[in-house]
Amino acid sequence: MSVISLPAAIEPFKWADRATHVVVDVPLAKFSRLAADLVHANGSIHLDVRFERDAQRVAFLRGEASTAVTLICQRCLEPMELPVHASINLALLHKEEHSERLPDDVDYIVVPDQDVVLAEIIEDELLLNVPFTPMHDDCESLAFEQPEEETTIAPPVKENPFQVLAALKKPSAKE
Ligand SMILES: [Zn+2]
Repeated sequence: MSVISLPAAIEPFKWADRATHVVVDVPLAKFSRLAADLVHANGSIHLDVRFERDAQRVAFLRGEASTAVTLICQRCLEPMELPVHASINLALLHKEEHSERLPDDVDYIVVPDQDVVLAEIIEDELLLNVPFTPMHDDCESLAFEQPEEETTIAPPVKENPFQVLAALKKPSAKE
């Protein structure tokens, strides 16, 4: 079975029985948790996943999700576009207890038979791949930074007034 548009809710185990291949582009704006941290939610997420059963009849969701997001660089506070990619390899289980049968290195999620929102599963996987503190690889502000001093206590206000000022600017504020 082949799916080219994403239903709101799916039946993951039936889809695995039918070896369902999903290839679809979903607007980024539909992923509200992901979009919340972005400068804008233009663009889409390309999804290419398969629901299938392995030799032991365990249902799996496997494939790739990729997109490009616009975040605020935490050094220069300018927007930056960043590719985000998630490789998905999840066992689908009816019950938590069934995980005991899985090898230790297999990730899994517990899902019901129906009304599963695939977009939420994908969103979780993508969120794991969005950096907490995005920064340009070659950020121009780099020159102003002190070399790696990881102070978790109060920021050095006197030494770095620009960073403090910048922190007051909300990323979502209009230009
Ligand atoms: Zn930067």
